[in-house]
Amino acid sequence: LFIAIEGGDGTGKSTQIHLLADALRDQGHGEVVTTREPGGTAAGTLLRSVVLDGDGVTPRAEALVFAADRAHHVASLVRPIVDRGGIVITDRYIDSSRAYQAAGRDLGDDEIVALSTWATEGMRPDLTIILDANPAVTRQRTTVRGEENHLDALDHEFHSTVRRSFLDYAAAAPDRYVVIDAGRDIDTIAAHVLRAVEQRLAQ
Ligand code: C5P
Repeated sequence: LFIAIEGGDGTGKSTQIHLLADALRDQGHGEVVTTREPGGTAAGTLLRSVVLDGDGVTPRAEALVFAADRAHHVASLVRPIVDRGGIVITDRYIDSSRAYQAAGRDLGDDEIVALSTWATEGMRPDLTIILDANPAVTRQRTTVRGEENHLDALDHEFHSTVRRSFLDYAAAAPDRYVVIDAGRDIDTIAAHVLRAVEQRLAQ
């Protein structure tokens, strides 16, 4: 089973992935692997620093680097584990590219989807969980953990676009997506995340 956890910055993805993996292991699921994009592999860590360290790169170059990271991530880690019956939970996947590169940076959604589909040979999550929260709230969380924090209106608009995009993708394919209100306390969110995965496992 391949699960993607998506959402804007500071929506609690990594916390929830950790809790979900522990819960699934407690339930006796054999191989449960958590990973992330960009940077889920050794090469991915190098690619991550290309886009996220320093001045970064231009939007199209950025989209290609994310796609390269994803291609290597899927071929070397995700697909082999899923093929042998394991559960992979990834922190971000194609919808992050659609929300940040296509919608946020104004590159075409069709092109970004086509690029990622080619990169992954069509590997699609069985379930995508969107952790949804208002950027004005999550900004406080990223501030607390010391990340760079822009308070300007442009930045708020960017993150609002990203948020709206995730919700649009979920609305377009409700059989493969679950949207969870991430403005609540950690345990409540974790219970909803686990229930969504259990329902998918029972299908
Ligand atoms: O989720 P994580 O904190 O690892 O992401 C690092 C940064 O990369 C985030 O600030 C996110 O905005 C950005 N990102 C992006 N496009 C992606 C994935 C992540 O712009 N496809």
